[in-house]
Amino acid sequence: MINQIKGLHHVTSMAADAGQNNAFFTGTLGLRRVKKTVNFDAPEVYHLYYGDETGTPGSVMTYFPFGRMPRGRRGTGEVGVTEFAVPEGALPWWKERLAAQGVSGLAEGRSFGEARLDFAGPDGDSFALVESAARGRTPWTGAGVPEDAGVLGFRGARMRLRDAGATAELLGFMGYSRDDSDGAVTRYRIEGGNAADTIDIEELPGAGAAAQGAGSVHHIAFAVENRAAQLEVRKALMDTGYQVTPVIDRDYFWAIYFRTPGGVLFEIATNEPGFDRDEDTAHLGEALKLPTRYEPLRGKIEALLPEIAA
Ligand code: ZN
Repeated sequence: MINQIKGLHHVTSMAADAGQNNAFFTGTLGLRRVKKTVNFDAPEVYHLYYGDETGTPGSVMTYFPFGRMPRGRRGTGEVGVTEFAVPEGALPWWKERLAAQGVSGLAEGRSFGEARLDFAGPDGDSFALVESAARGRTPWTGAGVPEDAGVLGFRGARMRLRDAGATAELLGFMGYSRDDSDGAVTRYRIEGGNAADTIDIEELPGAGAAAQGAGSVHHIAFAVENRAAQLEVRKALMDTGYQVTPVIDRDYFWAIYFRTPGGVLFEIATNEPGFDRDEDTAHLGEALKLPTRYEPLRGKIEALLPEIAA
């Protein structure tokens, strides 16, 4: 077992329309856009990052808005629900706000003793707001969201798998322990990490496989403090038989990726250097930042990218 993982770092999903995606996360949910950059492999596509004031690991939802892209189909082998934490007592406020803004799929419920409000994103993405203790986190109160309702960061993520076994074993190896079960959902939690410390597995043996598209989670990233810890994790995973990519510089963190037995793509990302490495905290996410190799093409790239609101 390894002990370097500290909970979630970010969740990356795919969207159709960049403007709609930006409006939903900064407007409806009131998160802060902490980086406006482009996909490393497709620089005509944005990579948009939303989170708290500084994009603290464990708060960062990121998107590739691919333009005209078919919607994904929900199923097994994917992250089924991305869960955000909100302060205790905040759900009635959110229910009213989301309903007033025409958000679909609103459903109140409880799981693992926590009140939750499930809802759909602009591309049918599955989200939930879950009432949780603040645990030292500070919400970014954009777009008129009051302090006592603001999103604190992630609560966790729920994977839907045909067979939980091998993935549960992997989570154990990564430092998660089995916590509790609620129906077909089993919760795994990591000690000593950040507040985004739960992964739930919903086992659906009879369900069809997911097909990725707009509204699908592309991968989830787990946090490690620094590059040394990341190398230790990489070696441990490879010694266990996982095929892990080399370390890739993603400008705001270093990343390694590997495919898990249940089909979900995992990333291990460093907490260093962070989103303020190339802009002041006061102006995060305002200017278009390009990976160095694309800087000579800035004019062309800017002409291809759709306008999105500040
Ligand atoms: Zn990532």
